[in-house]
Amino acid sequence: MTMLSWFSADLHIHTVLSPCAELDMGPVNIVKAARELKIDIIGITDHNAAGNVVAVRDRAGKEGPVVIPGMEVQTREEVHLLSFFPEVKQLQAFAAYIRERLPPVRNRPEIFGDQVVVNGGERILYFEEILLVNSVTASLGEVVKEVLARDGLVIPAHVDRGAYSILANLGFIPPALPVAALEIARPEKLPDLLLCYPAVGQYPFVSFSDAHTLSQLKGRFRTYFYLKQPNFTEIKKALQGEGGRKVVIRQGPGSD
Ligand SMILES: [Zn+2]
Ligand SMILES: [Zn+2]
Repeated sequence: MTMLSWFSADLHIHTVLSPCAELDMGPVNIVKAARELKIDIIGITDHNAAGNVVAVRDRAGKEGPVVIPGMEVQTREEVHLLSFFPEVKQLQAFAAYIRERLPPVRNRPEIFGDQVVVNGGERILYFEEILLVNSVTASLGEVVKEVLARDGLVIPAHVDRGAYSILANLGFIPPALPVAALEIARPEKLPDLLLCYPAVGQYPFVSFSDAHTLSQLKGRFRTYFYLKQPNFTEIKKALQGEGGRKVVIRQGPGSD
């Protein structure tokens, strides 16, 4: 019988594919930083694209960290949703769906920054030319449905922020929307959030770095999962509180 143990996780990390991320956010640096910070599980979640997930996973190799395939989608309502999948192939199918729903606006690197797809050794494969930081034409409900159809899970991002968040833009979490958890940017403010939105108390909370730079990976808070194995299925079970698995947010190494 496999015992449960604690794994630290940062499931909201941007790479050089996100125009707003710094150019040092390549697979080599991200994996190195995650190892130094003892982050066991990372999620690569670029805006509306997934071109660097395989590169980070290749770089992490057997030594780790474990890389969960993901994406941060911006829905028609300008809501940011973290989506995660058991395997890269499901993410890639979802990425194709999202790509078809991106407005055909070209990136202007001099304004927004480069959108770079690399391999595990950080060799540049190509520059993504469609601007990724736009809302897709699909609604929140449609995007969630597509994620679940591919066995994924959805976590609305930074729900406590004033922009690009489900609470700021919708004012509530639609009760029938099957979200696995809510990401909070400032966990210390959770009591205030619950006063304004008591209904969100029913969801599990997670807090990730949303790192666009290497130094942000340090994070003021960190989320820990109590799991049998560090993988997607176990994380999903922990968010449902299944079989003694659980999730907690703690002060992280960057909290001082
Ligand atoms: Zn976001
Ligand atoms: Zn983000």
